[in-house]
Amino acid sequence: MIAASVPTVREEFKALSPAQFFARYREIAGFSNPTRALYQAIRELVENALDATDSHGILPSVKIIVRQDSENPSHYVITVEDNGIGIPPQHVPQAFGRVLYSSKYVLRQTRGMFGLGVKAAIIYGQLTTGKPVEVITSQPGLKRIYYFKLRIDLQKNQPIILERGSWRKSRDWHGTIVSITIEGDWSRAKQKIIEYIKRTAVITPYANIVFVAPDGVVLFYKRNIEQLPPPSKEVKPHPHGIDLEFLKTLKENKNFKTVKDLLINSFQGVGEKTAIDVLILSSIDPSISPSKLTERDLVRLAETLKAYKRFRAPKADALSPLGREIIKAGLRRIFEPEFVEAITRRPAAYQGHPFIIEVGIAYGGKVPMSSDDGPILLRYANKIPLLYDEKSDVSWKVVSKSNFDWSQYNVSLPAQLIVLTHICSTKIPFKGVGKESVADVPEIEKELRLALREVARKLRIYLSKKIREEEKKRRIIVLARYIPEVARNLAIIASNGKGDKVDGILLEKLSEIIARRTGADPSEIIMVAKQVEVGV
Ligand code: ADP
Ligand code: MG
Repeated sequence: MIAASVPTVREEFKALSPAQFFARYREIAGFSNPTRALYQAIRELVENALDATDSHGILPSVKIIVRQDSENPSHYVITVEDNGIGIPPQHVPQAFGRVLYSSKYVLRQTRGMFGLGVKAAIIYGQLTTGKPVEVITSQPGLKRIYYFKLRIDLQKNQPIILERGSWRKSRDWHGTIVSITIEGDWSRAKQKIIEYIKRTAVITPYANIVFVAPDGVVLFYKRNIEQLPPPSKEVKPHPHGIDLEFLKTLKENKNFKTVKDLLINSFQGVGEKTAIDVLILSSIDPSISPSKLTERDLVRLAETLKAYKRFRAPKADALSPLGREIIKAGLRRIFEPEFVEAITRRPAAYQGHPFIIEVGIAYGGKVPMSSDDGPILLRYANKIPLLYDEKSDVSWKVVSKSNFDWSQYNVSLPAQLIVLTHICSTKIPFKGVGKESVADVPEIEKELRLALREVARKLRIYLSKKIREEEKKRRIIVLARYIPEVARNLAIIASNGKGDKVDGILLEKLSEIIARRTGADPSEIIMVAKQVEVGV
């Protein structure tokens, strides 16, 4: 049978540049509407500012100023200034004018990782207000400060420099000031933005943070600890974390004579013996040149690397956990709790990616009341606060009342209780590009639960001690109330019924006896006894 003839269709094919792609699908990067965009833009600038400071051993001072454009009230100028390492002037145009250009494409924990953030904000500004980005920057040790005003050529994915200049430094300033203008909606974004700044302040107690809002409100978080988290180091990938494409790029490496040497030098945790073992298992001669590897060799090698069980666990050097003291200082700085504790777990790994879980807990004091369903949860991934999609995050799964028996820990919900969770990893398993919630990877869930149990146990010990002490106090007060009565009866007996005047010395002696028996403070007992005596 002859098929019905299908008319020829003339289709036009075109390529999109990465910049055009993000201009078109801006919601992927978090820029879906003016409210969300204002929040996201601030986030991108603040995270770059913090990456430029704490990851490089500098105690951060970050100033965030958001002001309404006097000519157009729906336009906002966001300016973020940091005291970080600055940007080499020759890289500024690309770093701010080319999507997928970054200094963070290395295996090392940073907040940024896509090489997209600031450009997404600039593109959104360009599309909604037409205004360019302005950057002022200087590196430590440089004598000059550099200034750029630029926009992004979306089609070419390249910067268009509108103005540039430089001048001599009069003082030893280093850091970066970035200013962008975007369409926004402050009144609707306000609550989320303030929450974001506050949650950032919780885990950066070593930073001075100033936030000036368009309505004139100023938030200032003063540093309360001088200690920085340990900076992360760049590491080689772990063989469990790689794929075929990665092996193909390795093959191009001309620095090694044999496949064996290539493996030893390209991965962490692979020594001479392991390399030979893996290659033999993949039916590859360890002494051949990498250029001789065929496509089928690579497929077999990728499979062996995934399945091989005897590699050393991934190194955690690339990670930068906050540490117990910083988490405690952070929770104290914002919530002034009556009890605070934190723990950093030992490194673990999932699918070849190392990770570390940290959990902090704050109770009482000025901690707000939680809901019935679970504690107030503060989630962080690589030091970034996560604000949206809480209920679909693995952390919520672990801390919520339906999954964690809080009553076992002397806590009955609702309570003035905060749980902080921090996941750091060279690869956070985010549920989407929006970087707002973490998927429930079993290894991560398990570590979270162990960490939570450990801090919750400390809270239980604190709370049961507190309950015991309160009971003891009540008992002592009850006892102390009898002292004047006993003393009066003794006085009556001693005077053969002639007088009932209570002797002060007797009162004190009785109080001391009770104090000794109960382990209480004698002066406190005397005080209660005397109050009863005078009929208070
Ligand atoms: P990412 O943060 O994912 O690398 P961005 O587009 O946000 O991507 O930033 C691109 C690059 O610009 C960064 O990798 C960094 O090198 C540089 N950069 C941006 N902001 C700053 C800053 N405040 N200080 C120093 N470098 C910065
Ligand atoms: Mg960034």
